[in-house]
Parts: sequence; C-alpha cells; structure tokens
Amino acid sequence: MAIAHILGYPRIGEKRALKFAQEAFWKGELNATGLQEVGKGLREQHWQKQAGLGFITAGDFTFYDHVLDHAVMFGAVPERFGFQRGVLSEEQYFALARGNASQPAMEMTKWFDTNYHYIVPELSADTRFSINAHEFLSRLDEAQAQGKTVKPVLLGPVSLLYLSKARDRDRLQLLDGLAEQYAYLLRELYHRKIEWLQIDEPVLALDLDDQWLKAFERAYAWLRTQRPKILLATYFANVSRYQGFITGLPVDGIHLDLVRAPEQLAPWLNALPGHWVLSAGVVDGRNIWRNDLRRSLDILQTLAQKLGDRLWVAPSCSLLHTPVTLAHEENLDPEIKHWLAFADEKIAEVATLARALNEGEGSIASELAASDAAVQSRRTSSRVHNADVQARITALDKINPERHRAFAERKAVQQARYNLPALPTTTIGSFPQTADIRASRAAFKQGKLSTDRYQQDMQQHIEFAIREQEALDIDVLVHGEAERNDMVEYFGEQLAGYAFTQYGWVQSYGSRCVKPPVIYGDVYRPQPMTVETARYAQSLTSRPVKGMLTGPVTMLQWSFVRDDQPRQSTAMQLALAIRDEVDDLQQAGIGIIQIDEPALREGLPLQQAEWKQYLDWAVRAFKLSASVAEDDTQIHTHMCYSEFNDILPAIAAMDADVITIETSRSHMELLDGFGEFAYPNDIGPGVYDIHSPRVPTIAEIEALLRRAASVVPLAQLWVNPDCGLKTRGWAETRTALDNMVQVAKQLRTEL
Ligand code: GLN
Ligand code: ZN
Repeated sequence: MAIAHILGYPRIGEKRALKFAQEAFWKGELNATGLQEVGKGLREQHWQKQAGLGFITAGDFTFYDHVLDHAVMFGAVPERFGFQRGVLSEEQYFALARGNASQPAMEMTKWFDTNYHYIVPELSADTRFSINAHEFLSRLDEAQAQGKTVKPVLLGPVSLLYLSKARDRDRLQLLDGLAEQYAYLLRELYHRKIEWLQIDEPVLALDLDDQWLKAFERAYAWLRTQRPKILLATYFANVSRYQGFITGLPVDGIHLDLVRAPEQLAPWLNALPGHWVLSAGVVDGRNIWRNDLRRSLDILQTLAQKLGDRLWVAPSCSLLHTPVTLAHEENLDPEIKHWLAFADEKIAEVATLARALNEGEGSIASELAASDAAVQSRRTSSRVHNADVQARITALDKINPERHRAFAERKAVQQARYNLPALPTTTIGSFPQTADIRASRAAFKQGKLSTDRYQQDMQQHIEFAIREQEALDIDVLVHGEAERNDMVEYFGEQLAGYAFTQYGWVQSYGSRCVKPPVIYGDVYRPQPMTVETARYAQSLTSRPVKGMLTGPVTMLQWSFVRDDQPRQSTAMQLALAIRDEVDDLQQAGIGIIQIDEPALREGLPLQQAEWKQYLDWAVRAFKLSASVAEDDTQIHTHMCYSEFNDILPAIAAMDADVITIETSRSHMELLDGFGEFAYPNDIGPGVYDIHSPRVPTIAEIEALLRRAASVVPLAQLWVNPDCGLKTRGWAETRTALDNMVQVAKQLRTEL
C-alpha cells in the first residue's frame, strides 16, 4: 500500500482564526484558556482534513513559530528573560517572540527562501538543553484521540542548531547535549507506540561544509536508541550531493522535494537503502497550482514498481507556504479557480494519487479527467497566452538593456537639469497611511465612494504630503503613495495576467499573514498605471517629484508565480510592463523615477552555485525596465532588509543612478562593502530607522552621516530614511525629517 501524507499543515485557519486569537490575547481581550481553545479547535479541524491520508501529522501546530517551540521544548530559553526553567506561561512564550517591557524580542529571520520568518534560537556557552515535551506530548495525545495513525514531526537537531545563533561559542560544541535530549524524546515516542516519526532537516538544502555533515553523523548516532522509525524530510532543493552521508544515517526513509528538484529522483532511486521508504514530494507545497495528476502518476507508477509498499506520496514540503482552502473563494474567475489548489485541495490530490496506486487508475477516473481538463485549459486559454506579449519577448534581444551613456556623463546631464545641492535629501516613497487615507481607500473598494470623490481625496493627501515636504525643505519629493495599500498589489491590480484571492493568506510571521497575488498569465500593462498621479503631484511644486514604481523582481518575488514557464520569463514580461510605465512617466515630464527592488536579494537561490544564473536574469529584468530612461532621467532604486555585500557586483551592474538602502540598524556597517567595492553610482544610505516611532536626534543622524561620508565620497551621497514611512505617524515623521534635513544642511556648509 502506498501511503499518502503531508509534512505539515498551515496553522492560521481558513479565515485566519489564529491571527485574531493571538491579537485578542495580546490586547487582553482573550484569556489563556480561550487562546488554548482556539488552538485545540484548529488542530482538530486540521486533523479531520487529513482523515483520508495514511497518517495525520502532529507537532506542526504552533502559537507563534515552530523553531521557537523547539527552542522552548529543548530548554534553550534565553537567560536574559529571567524565566524559570519549566513550562512557560503564554505571556512568557509570546515575550520571547515579541519582546516585553524589559527585553527586546528574540531575532527573527527568513525561513530558507520562503516568506515565512522564524525566531532564531539564542544559544551560549551556558545553554544546558533539557527536554520539556509536555506540550508536544499532550498535542500528540490529542492527535491519537482522533483514532487515526499519528506521525509526529520534529525539526531535526542539526537544523535546529544550524538555524540558531550562539553568542560566545561554536554552536557545534552544543550538538551532543542537544542530540541526547532528542534521544530521550524519541524513546518516549517509542513507548507511546508511535510507528513513524518525521524529522525535518531542511538545512540539507544549503551548502554545508564538512563540519556540518559530520554533525549529522554525530547527532544521529545519538538516535540509535529505542525509537520510532524515522522519515528524514528534506525540501527546497536537490540533496543528492549529500547522498553518501545521508544513506549512512540511522533513519528509515527519506522525503524528497520532487517539485523543486525532480532531477534528484534517479540518483536517489539507485542509492536508496533496501529497507528505506521514499516519500515522493510530487505536489507543489510552495505554489498554488493544481497538480497534473497524470504526470505525477507516471512518476509514481514507475516508483511503485520498484518500491512497492515503500513508496509514500506527499506534497513537496509543508503546506505552511500555501493558503488554506479554495472553498471560500467567491470572486475568482471560475476558469482560473479551476487551475488552483490550496492546502486542502493538495491533501485531496495526494490522497487521490495514493488511491490510484493502490486501487488502480480506474478508481480516480473522474479526478484524472478533471485534472486533464485543467491542464488542457491552462495550456490553451487566452487568459494565459497573449500573442503580443510573446512577440515582444521573442524580440527581447533587440532592446538595448544599457542606458545610452555611462553614469558619470548621465550624472552631469541630470545635475544640469535639476541643480541639486550636495547631499541631496529625499524619502523612500510612502508617507504615513493615516486612518483617513485607509478609510477612503476601503470605502472606494467597497463601492461606497465614487471614483471622483476618491480621486479628490487622494489628491488632497498628495497635496498635503507635497506641502509638508516643501516646508521641510526636502530636495527631491515623493507623492506619498496614499493610493497604495501594498506595493505589489497596487500594480498587480492594474496589470493583465494577475488574479487576487479573498482568503489566500499565508503566514509570514506570528500573526502577520500576506496574501500574495497570483500571476496566472502573460503579463502586460493595458494602460498607464501611475502617470496621472505623478503628473498631478509634479504640477503642485517646482521641486522634482519622483515617480514611484515596484520593480519586476519584487513583483515576481512577492506573488505566486506561474509554473508553466521559467520564473525568469515571467520576470521579463513584468520588466517590459514597468519599462512602458517608465517611458510614459518620462514623456509626462517626470525626470526622476524610482524602481523599488526590496526583494531582489531574497530571491537568491539557496545554493551558491545557482546565484550567478539568478542574478544575471534579475539584473537583466531591472535594466530592461530602466534602460528606456533618457540620460537626463534619473533612475533610483531602493532595497531593504538585506545584506548586500555578497551581491555588490550585481547591484552595481543594475546601474541605477541612485540606490537608497537600509543601513541605520547596522550603524552604517552595511555601507562598508560599498566603500570597499568602490561602488560607482550615487548612494543614499538610510540615516534613520523607520521601524520605530522613536525620533532620531540630530546628533545620531549626524554621526551616521559622518560615518557614511568616511566610507563613500561625499559627492556620491544622498540623505534619506531607511525605508518608506507608511507605518509612522505624521508628528514623529515631521520631526525626524526636519532633523535629517538640518544635518544635511550643516554638512554642506563644511564642503
Ligand atoms: N516605495 C516603498 C515605500 O516607501 C518602498 C517599500 C519597501 O521598500 N518595502 O513604501
Ligand atoms: Zn524599504
């Protein structure tokens, strides 16, 4: 019998019940018992949805983050919080993730190349791991009470350690202590008659050096104890290069991501130890497309012949990264909806595939027919395929991706046009999204406000922002982005090829969820998107106002992307659409245009060997958007949340006239790389952190700017905050920007 299972299920609930419970608890509107009940209800629901699978999976639920839960379970609660060892209260648990009056939160960072963020465990020489699995085991009891076979899941010891940071010690020295605690837990699971345990070791997707590979051998040696059988789960990459190591580990099977890395199947089939199971991740756990059942079945049938009962069927990775269910989507075009599968539909897909293996293809005839029909309609639908877009893509080579002249010459022409002072001041784009602004946008969306009235409202907000900036004496203005709820959604709604869901939420961190739009077809721009707004803003002032666009790589990175063509092909279509907009803006007299690419770095592949290929097309996409600019049109770009040093050549190759970056939280350290690299174009290193309402003092800004000037020549420097100001209030924004402008003026007098 082939077994169907999933690696993990989203925690948030069909309509984000978890978010609302968390936030109510934080506000004191829900007590701990109420919160626990919501969690219990969600878990039960999630297990019921898995009732048709060979296992229900337990241990994947969390009230904040599963990596944090593992740190807590193994006793690695940072000392600085002063909590007693043992079971944490809900307040204490959330304090770790969110900070409290006396301690800042634990650090948070991205989970591999997803948009999920995990809490980074804090270890030190004093860390003494000791298991407290009360919560884990009681949830296991709950699962077993469902009357189904339960497969618990754990994040593995090597991944847990790798993803942690250790203040004063090589964290590998902590490995034995941690693995020993895992062994205790495994023995307990054995006594509870658990037959299979899933251990995730996602770090196998990364470039691991010898030490870390040895760490696997060493940690898993501790697990040669009384224990359930272990399915070692890998995902997000081809792990066949570590095959020699992995097959030596005392485990009983492996899960492979065959969506991301189908090419690893052949090498694994040859090397699979005789008693191991193979869990074939054939249903995409990272994207929202309906599975091509016939294609999956082809692969699985070949596998089944070889493996028989040792074959399991699964999504490629945890379903954490997909929305929960299509059931409540009422506004999607029916044809498009038919092409999609969210978590619940993916559960049905793996169950269907296993049934075909066990009972013959005839048992899934109707599912196969529906799948075939969806495949066929996606392949041929005019919603997907647009001849004009394809003609432009075919002719891509005829577009010169370079600006006409070199940066130094452009800079001179642009300076002649705008005559900006040294250390020009600007902001990143958005101004405070006040309650007024949000109310007016919401009313317009709900059809309660006429287009005319809405546009008048927006014009008022724009005028307000312009007058504020003039009063502050900022040099290059922005219109403030009042009309944008989100920098991707705003453009996606105006581009062809994009669809939007009602409940397609995916957890980003804690209670924060995002609802990425779906790129389902050839992307193009039916009409100008920002030109009217930009023209209006520019008409209000004699100072330059930046046109504000989201770049192609960020549009791609923050959407669900079609899987019927390479990501880079979609990127090029997006690039052409943005290029059209850049051209229209400059024709309309907008001489400074910012193309934001905050997500450029996060698109980097997990394995360094693939970086070059990605950066080549990502940079090409940006340049394709920008190179239509005349020499006297100044192109800005903006990036944040990133470490840039390892991709500086690519950033330089983008050849933006000005790049503004987030640097203040690292005290300008991030700028050092730009200095060492002798980055040639202009740079605006953020001189204050916009993530906090705290107003930076003149002295602080001055110190940062002087530090910047010691690294990068003054003639190349711009002065601006770290990022957009949309989450701030006007009062603090005004004072902060006033301080910023004063510092710039002061430093100019010293030139
Ligand atoms: N222009 C955008 C803003 O200011 C940039 C946002 C971002 O970098 N994430 O809001
Ligand atoms: Zn930013």
